[in-house]
Order: sequence, then C-alpha cells, then structure tokens
Amino acid sequence: MSRLNISRFGSIYSSGVSTSACSFRPTFISPRRTNILPRGSTCTKSAAAASSNIYKSSRLSLEECVSEIESILDDPGISTLLNSSQAAAIDSLRDKINQCQQLINPVGNGENISSSMIPAPVLENLEDPNNIFLASTYGGLKVSNSTADFASLWSEHSSCPSSDGVSYVPPEWESLSEGNKTKLAEILSLNNLERWDFNILDVVDLVDGCSVLVLVGWAIIGSPSSQRVMMESLGKSLKEEEELGGYNFSPTLGVDHKMLVSFLRSLEAQYSTTQKYHNNIHAADVLQTLHSMIRMGIGDLSESLSTVDVFAMLLAAAAHDVGHPGTNNLYQINAQTNLAIVYNDKSPLENMHASKASQLVKSAHLLEDFSREQANLVRSKMIQAILTTDMAHHFNSVSYIENVISRFDDDGVDWYDFVRTDESTDVVSDIFNFMIHLADISNPTKPRSLATYWAECALSEFFVQGDLEKELNLPISPLCDRDKTNLATSQRDFIKYVVLPAYEVLGKIIPAVASEVLPRIKENLQYWESQC
Ligand code: AMP
Ligand code: ZN
Repeated sequence: MSRLNISRFGSIYSSGVSTSACSFRPTFISPRRTNILPRGSTCTKSAAAASSNIYKSSRLSLEECVSEIESILDDPGISTLLNSSQAAAIDSLRDKINQCQQLINPVGNGENISSSMIPAPVLENLEDPNNIFLASTYGGLKVSNSTADFASLWSEHSSCPSSDGVSYVPPEWESLSEGNKTKLAEILSLNNLERWDFNILDVVDLVDGCSVLVLVGWAIIGSPSSQRVMMESLGKSLKEEEELGGYNFSPTLGVDHKMLVSFLRSLEAQYSTTQKYHNNIHAADVLQTLHSMIRMGIGDLSESLSTVDVFAMLLAAAAHDVGHPGTNNLYQINAQTNLAIVYNDKSPLENMHASKASQLVKSAHLLEDFSREQANLVRSKMIQAILTTDMAHHFNSVSYIENVISRFDDDGVDWYDFVRTDESTDVVSDIFNFMIHLADISNPTKPRSLATYWAECALSEFFVQGDLEKELNLPISPLCDRDKTNLATSQRDFIKYVVLPAYEVLGKIIPAVASEVLPRIKENLQYWESQC
C-alpha cells in the first residue's frame, strides 16, 4: 500500500518557520482567470476529480463551481462560441461565488457540514446579515464577520513572539539536582523522545511525581527551545542535529512557553497521582507515543497537516484523560454518577475530559496570542480528538479508516494528490484522531517490561472498580472482577481483537509502524499466549 505513505510531505517538524504555519488557507481567487490549484501543481485535475468522486456527493462545492467555470473560460474552443454578454455573465457568476467563498470560513468543525444543503439564494448573498444568520444558525456554517478578518489573520500568524516566550525555565526543571538534570536532558533529547521504546518510567525515576507531564510536555510541545534551555542550564549547547529538529510552535504559532508550562502544570494537577493507570504518567506516555507516531509516519507534514493540527493533537493527547476518576463509562452510567447525568450517558468521561481541557487552556491563557479563528480551531480539534478516545467507538473507527484506505487502493487515487485537495481535511483529521486513540491503547505495543507494567496497572485499577461495583450491587464490568480475571488471557484477547487489528490498519498508513511496531505487538501476543 505504498500509495498511502503519508511520510513524504515537507517538514513541519523542522527548524525555522514552516510555510504551512497557518492552517487557514483562504481561497481567494483573483478576479482574472486563475485556477484554485496553482498551475504546475502536481495535483492533476484527474486525481483531484477522482478523489472528489470518492468523498463528495454529486453536488458541487463553491470551489468546484469556480474551478468548472474557470475551465470553461480557459477553453479556447468554448470562449470563441460565447458572445461578450455571455462571457461577462459567466465572469460575474464566478465573482459572486468568490465573494461567498471569501466570507465562509473554510475551516470545518469536524461535523462534516456541507454548504450544499443551504438554499442557494442564502449562500449567494452572504453579505446580507440575515443570510449570515440563516447560514450559520440553520446550516452550521462558520461565517466570518468580514473579509478583513482573513487579512488580519495572515499578519497575526507571521508575528513572532518575544524571545522571552521561549527562554522560560520551568521551576520543575530548576529544582532538579545537577546529576538528574544531566540524565533527564539525555532522556528528553529529541532523538530519544521520538523512540517507540522510550520508557516513561525513566522520567518517573528522576523527577517529582507531580511533574512528569509538565517536563515531558514541555520537552515535546516546546521543542526545540526546551532542549536548548535544558542544555544551556547545564552550560552546554544543543547538538547540531537537534538544532534542526522540533515543532517550533513558538515562532510559527506564537506559543508562549510560560503559558504552555502553566497549562501543563494545571493539567497535571487534575490527573490523579494515586490511581494505578489513569494518572499523569499515562497522560505523558500517550503524549510521547503520539509524538513518536507523528515522527514515524507524518514526520514530514505540510499542507493538509498544518501546525495548528499537530499542536491541537498534542494538547489533546496530554489532556485526554484529565480528571479521570478511576472508574469507566459503564460504571458512571450504571451508578448514575453526576458525570452520567450531566452528559446524558453519552461518553461521560470523554466529555468531561474535553470540557476540563478547554477550561484549562483558557485559564492558562494558552491561546491568548492566537487569532480568534485559530484559537477556536485548536479548541475544536482538541475536543474532537478527546471525544474519539472513547473505547466504545473503537471497532467503528478501525473499520472506517480501513474503508478509507481500501477506497484509495480500489480507485487508484494517489494520497499525495488527495491531501492537496480541500476534501482531504476531514479525512486527515479522522486519521489524526485515530492516531491519538491508538496511542491511548499503545501499552501492549511497547517493550515487554513496559507492556507488563501497564497491563498490571490497568487491571489493578479495574479491580478497584470491580470491588466498588460489588459493594454497590452493580453489574461487574468486564475485566473488573478480581476473582475471575486473568492477566495473561486479558492481554491476549486485548491484543488479538483490539490492538493488533487496529495497528495493522495504521501500518498501512504509516509504513514504519508496520515494520517497527507490528513485530513487537506479535511478540507480546505470543508471550501472553504462552502464559495462558
Ligand atoms: P483510556 O481509558 O482513555 O485510557 O482508554 C484506553 C482503554 O483501553 C482503557 O480504559 C482500557 O479499557 C483499555 N486498555 C488500555 N490498556 C489496556 C490493557 N493493557 N489491558 C486491557 N485494557 C486496556
Ligand atoms: Zn487514556
């Protein structure tokens, strides 16, 4: 399935300012006859059209309408057949569509809203406040107040934060002994952080139990400035190869490191440090695993995978279980806890995690220097990603992503061409959300000692829930009965039916996952089978 190798885009994880720093791709079209896709683009019309056929209904989007009109105007055969008023009419039509296009925020909210369902007269005149009201209230379209918003957006993106924003030294780092700083700087180096066999327990051994997420989060999300600060505090300078790596969210998005650490600190404070599994270490582990996955497969991102996407996903990974009470959704619903009541039995935990994450982002002023649109985008992507970590969606997600992949195979559409089209946005978001979910269930994919550690932690926490369920005379949830659950068979089945099939699908998207991670999963499966 080499076609779906998404590892060949320009780099987001590199030095300097990525050209794709701005996730907003306003599709202004010049009044003259320019195509939406730049001329000479490798995204051929046939590839774009083929991918359109897959993901779109027969009704055309505004961009497609403009593209079709451009093709009429560009066709010398047709233009000689048109008289001047016919050509002018088509030109005016194109301009009208352009006006609509400029007014509609091109960023989706993850709910696959289609402008084609909104009455055409409403869409055609979005300068009218009534129509804006109708399109946004009843059609779910995000409509900007004015075209000027986009102009200011661009300039806000390119403004760099002051150097103070990145030279911040977290007290959690400062308070370590020189010896531990030296060891931790090595563990949190960019080369080590991207390893699949990174051992989060190495960090736990060195730092205060309440600052694992702060330090790992700062090292990853604040890279490469965080590595530079660590080295400078040891009187050294960053290695040459590390100088060139890192997310660089500070120069590209304006992320202030003091605010970032303040967010991570308040996040970590709301993770249990006593629960065996759903604690701050699990959060740090999922964040690092997602980072490793990104580096493995989508290390080189551009265009569809914007800096904003990656930033939102990393925040989501860090925050995905915040406030976890140590009991699962089934328990919340059966016990009619406040969470189940507040969220009407619908993913009560994940809704709570997402809501808390939003509150903490806000109280840490993390997105204060972002434009309103960009801040909303980060927030909505983060929420969506956290909601999809509900295990109840697992089998559906695997089969959906598998379906997406097989359609690429069947229709011969090149992934590289596809991501250059606007239709790719939702699919790419779905794949990213799938990656976070897979990072969340990654513990059986890790080296045996780590996999066993996490398996024992998971069951130990489940048993506490089982004890509570017995006490309250509630149905005992699967894997929660300490008298009936066996570690080896639980892991064998979890790997065989849940983890392995899902990672096999991810391996088709990210070849390095197939070559590096699948063999480890199979080894662990064999091990647990031998213990049954
Ligand atoms: P989360 O609760 O968000 O961490 O979602 C991951 C879920 O996957 C956990 O709640 C467990 O239900 C399941 N899980 C993760 N690791 C294991 C494991 N080693 N054994 C059994 N179930 C696991
Ligand atoms: Zn989790």
